[in-house]
Amino acid sequence: MKELEDRIRQDGIVKAGDVLKVDAFLNHQCDVELFDHMGAEWARLFEGVPINKILTIEASGIGIACIAAQHFGNVPVVFAKKAQSINLDGEQYSTTIYSFTKKREFPVIVGRRFLSPGDHVLIIDDFLANGCALEGLIAIVESAGATVEGIGIAIEKGFQGGGDKLRERGYRVESLARLVGMDCETGELTFA
Ligand code: 5GP
Repeated sequence: MKELEDRIRQDGIVKAGDVLKVDAFLNHQCDVELFDHMGAEWARLFEGVPINKILTIEASGIGIACIAAQHFGNVPVVFAKKAQSINLDGEQYSTTIYSFTKKREFPVIVGRRFLSPGDHVLIIDDFLANGCALEGLIAIVESAGATVEGIGIAIEKGFQGGGDKLRERGYRVESLARLVGMDCETGELTFA
């Protein structure tokens, strides 16, 4: 999506350790008009796919998922919560996710009330790097007996391999901007 690529070139900052900072428009200050265009693009890409729920993970996914939902007939948005510990009371689906940015594992939970076997889920997130966050979200959807209909990502860092692994497993991953190279010395960004 050219508008997103242009914005990344304009306001993105390449940090050491393969981290791209996009807090000027995506995950700290939010450009809601851009989010709206992203939602429209996912809706175009997933046209005809039966999606009745969007799943994301707090915090950065929530804003983009909520705006995107408006393009999918205002389907409910559920976000996985990062928990202090896994509470095994049977009320929640839970898994553990390794955080690329925080370099540690943390438990995530989704209330069982909000995911059912009949659900057809679109997973949305801001970034796809190694794929750990998505693997966790997929595990939660599948443990609910629901169906992952697709995955919508704002920025995929293709050189980190997570997207390819998921595509090989048969998931449909639609990334609006796909980086194939990123140089933290020059700040140069290369899109697919
Ligand atoms: P993965 O689990 O695919 O390795 O990483 C995805 C998660 O890590 C995303 O939910 C996102 O919050 C965070 N993340 C990964 N790479 C970046 C990055 O370059 N910049 C920012 N801001 N977040 C990232």
